[in-house]
Amino acid sequence: MSQGATPEGSGSASLTTVEAYQKAILSAINPLAPVSLELADAEGCVLAEDVTAAVALPSFDNSSMDGYAVLAADVAGASQESPATLRVTGEIAAGDIGAHRLAPGTAMRILTGAQVPAGADAVVPVEWTNDGNTEVAIYRPADAGNAIRHVGGDATAGETLLTAGTRLRPMHIAVAASAGRKAVSVRPRPRVVVLSTGDELTEPGTPLVPGRIWDSNSYMIAAAAREAGAVAFRRSGVPDDPAGVLPALEEQLARADVLVTTGGVSMGGEHDVVKAALRELGTVNFMKVAMQPGMPQGFGVIGADKVPLFTLPGNPVSAYVSFQLFVRPAIAALQGADDLSLPATAATLTSPVRSPSGRRSYLRAVLDGTRVTPLSGQQSHQIASLGRANALIIVPEWETQLPAGESVDVLILP
Ligand code: AMP
Ligand code: MG
Repeated sequence: MSQGATPEGSGSASLTTVEAYQKAILSAINPLAPVSLELADAEGCVLAEDVTAAVALPSFDNSSMDGYAVLAADVAGASQESPATLRVTGEIAAGDIGAHRLAPGTAMRILTGAQVPAGADAVVPVEWTNDGNTEVAIYRPADAGNAIRHVGGDATAGETLLTAGTRLRPMHIAVAASAGRKAVSVRPRPRVVVLSTGDELTEPGTPLVPGRIWDSNSYMIAAAAREAGAVAFRRSGVPDDPAGVLPALEEQLARADVLVTTGGVSMGGEHDVVKAALRELGTVNFMKVAMQPGMPQGFGVIGADKVPLFTLPGNPVSAYVSFQLFVRPAIAALQGADDLSLPATAATLTSPVRSPSGRRSYLRAVLDGTRVTPLSGQQSHQIASLGRANALIIVPEWETQLPAGESVDVLILP
């Protein structure tokens, strides 16, 4: 890893900054190859091509209202007192592909979205008439072009409607469909495989015995990955057996664009099996990042395809914060995008906070408008307070305490 991220062991004084670590990760990520996806599957993916209009939109003059197609000249003098009375020669509904022609001095009923007949140049809304069937009395004049949606009034043929790099949201899907596209070239949702490690882990829903805990990380990180637009798979409870970690990871490579492990990367020792197993590979770097929670981090690549791999700390809050700061932007980068950093805002502290010197704190908090209240229970195993938080207060590296009333930066949690 380059870009200013300092590997662990290259001097204990040098913690890697959050920014340097983020930058190093992003510089190591290559966007996924574009694939063609049908529109029904493309939402949340990032366009890898421009989408242009196959035809002008609309492609034919059509009515924007229910009413009567007329010649404007035939209703020019119409008023309540002396209506223009026209014979009604037919009806044109939306979808009618007949070649209708309006004779001067007559009207045709027309419905919203229906083709304006040749020879007509205006539509009189039904509200301006007596709603007649064989003959209609029209009480107001209509200008030429009234209530007509003209060819190309929305977009011209060949016009670029969506540009490469757009993350496809529902309105973009509508635009692509309106432009006649069945499929689009996109960078797909990355496939994230989450592996939780630890002999203590038990599946939720099964009985707990003393010494064990229910695995929350694999569910949490998979859910967070999905929330960030990825497809997520879970592999729970990889045992603390150094010989088993690499095979467990390699087994997942076929379905992974990113691997995320939790646990097993603390400060060393034989139980830090993830670190022990991956060190031997030489393609994963372990860092101490100047943050709390989440100091021990690892990132690198694994397998012939060089699949990016994150090793997140095991404590659930550390894993959560690490995911949001490091994995979330990487999911965007895999889609050739940079739109997934958490939104930030400034807010006023309602009570004082503390933070270790030299490390940036991310404190669970409740943001309410422009006021932010730190929660009690800030240790990194305390998942209950994470469940009450909607934001993280950022306390800079150089601050060790901040009083109530201070303005702080806050990350808004998704
Ligand atoms: P480790 O990083 O493996 O030393 O784990 C640090 C702490 O996080 C320990 O208290 C673990 O029990 C806890 N932990 C590790 N993995 C999980 C998990 N998947 N779900 C909940 N807690 C975990
Ligand atoms: Mg562990």
